[in-house]
Amino acid sequence: GSCPGACELECDICFSGFDNVFKLPKLLACGHTFCLECLARINVSSETVSSVSCPLCRRLTPLPSGKGLPALDNNLAVLRRLPSGMRSVPSIRFSRDKGKLYTTSSGSGGPEPSSFLKPTQLSSVSLSLDVGQPAHRSSSDTPPRTPAWLPFRSSSCYYMAIGFVLIFTVALVLSGIFLFVIVPTRSITGAGPSGRNGTTQRP
Ligand SMILES: [Zn+2]
Ligand SMILES: [Zn+2]
Repeated sequence: GSCPGACELECDICFSGFDNVFKLPKLLACGHTFCLECLARINVSSETVSSVSCPLCRRLTPLPSGKGLPALDNNLAVLRRLPSGMRSVPSIRFSRDKGKLYTTSSGSGGPEPSSFLKPTQLSSVSLSLDVGQPAHRSSSDTPPRTPAWLPFRSSSCYYMAIGFVLIFTVALVLSGIFLFVIVPTRSITGAGPSGRNGTTQRP
């Protein structure tokens, strides 16, 4: 082509060479190839989780369910042109919530990175990579369901409190009727004869 040298082995977004860890050449459905790290950054900053849009042609590539970005097809044509020590790919996981790419080399099943990486390359490869935080959806737009003055979250507790207040007010009214209506009439009728007796017995 018109591009001499190894420019096809570079990611078009970050212009750094592909490798076998976090800069894996990932082949999108549109045929464009970008490194895993750049696709992870795009996926973290976008609202859609289940697909990634190509930064060149904006065509959506559905991600494999459950596995996500690392399970996308590698561009084998690019991978074959990498140095011989960088052709075997470790198992890479992508946590969108944490915004991190990391290899699962410590567990069983995946090959150790040190077994196929030269010591000079190992120093430049980090086992986890921060690709940014996902965009938080603003929760201030949606009003809360319960008013702020209401301390009760569950409806049953709310109705229990309403019932308690009703019973309390009814008891208060009944006790008020008893204290200010029934008791004075009883004390008047009860104190009537004793008062008469007291006044009549004194002289
Ligand atoms: Zn890149
Ligand atoms: Zn594309």
